[in-house]
Amino acid sequence: MPFYISQNTLKQQVKLVVKNWPFAEIKSHQARILLCKLYGFENQHDYLKKTHETPSSLTPINEQTVINAYLQWVKRLAKLGSINEIQAKNLLHILWPTYLAPHKHLKEKLYTCKFKFHGTCLDFLNQATEDKWVDYKFDDRPSVKDAIEAIGVPHPEVGGITIDGTDVDFNYLLEDAREVEVYPHPYETGLLPYKPERKSTFLLDVHLAKLTRYLRMAGFDCLHESKDIGDELLAHLSQTNDYILLTRDIGLLKRGNVKHARWIRNTEPQAQFKEIVDYYDLLDKFKPFSRCVKCNGDIQPINKESIKPAVPGQIFESQESFKQCAHCNQVYWKGSHYDKIKNILLQAE
Ligand SMILES: [Zn+2]
Repeated sequence: MPFYISQNTLKQQVKLVVKNWPFAEIKSHQARILLCKLYGFENQHDYLKKTHETPSSLTPINEQTVINAYLQWVKRLAKLGSINEIQAKNLLHILWPTYLAPHKHLKEKLYTCKFKFHGTCLDFLNQATEDKWVDYKFDDRPSVKDAIEAIGVPHPEVGGITIDGTDVDFNYLLEDAREVEVYPHPYETGLLPYKPERKSTFLLDVHLAKLTRYLRMAGFDCLHESKDIGDELLAHLSQTNDYILLTRDIGLLKRGNVKHARWIRNTEPQAQFKEIVDYYDLLDKFKPFSRCVKCNGDIQPINKESIKPAVPGQIFESQESFKQCAHCNQVYWKGSHYDKIKNILLQAE
């Protein structure tokens, strides 16, 4: 049922809307049509007709009816004016100051969902939240991905999301009063990106030089951030299917275009290596001594005589087989990294 608004009140409110409109400009006649529709009339003609002819059929305006209509008005005003709900609320408080002043709490965010985080998702939250529901308040309709990141968990770490028990993907738009549960990888439905299906290249940020070396020793293709690869490019590369971004920078993981990625929990390089081997199940993919630890190039067996000038004489005499990086020409033999690599790989098993 439309509301009874006197012509005088409507006239004042048109002025207020024009004066306080959140964007550059709204004309008086546009503001008048908007207000007529806000209060439940089809158009100005409908407003004039009903207000004159059947005022008793209209809802009277008082504190109670304004409060009751508040949420509906916020949504309608936002939609009619193409403004967001916060702007709509601000305008309503300007239009009805007397009735709304005692109800300032209405300006707070409109909706609440409950979130519960599981497993390693809790690594990003206060541990006291384990097994507890966390309230998340919002206006409009954020995606569940944005809400999860606003609470603190970067999206690449999320393997599964349920809303009231049903699996959804990142694009689901939140509504009021839902129960959202967030699970880490691996998660059975596979709705959210975990790791590339085909062969993968690791992208490591600038702080992970040692982990890069270990992964290369084990034969994994690794790009390491240097002066040439900044955050922007790392994030850009990681949105394609074949890259896994590894970093200790949570902000980098929250970039929207990052797809497959992991926040490295450990700070000690060997522990980091084991962490990655376990998380991505890499043990049976080891190909030691196939990749150059310096430049990521392929290393190939090479004729012993041809590298004579490049290695110390004693090494040349004592070793039988040599390999060389096809890209940077670094020469490898069993004595150099062999024992160290073997130890690290054995420890990872
Ligand atoms: Zn090399």
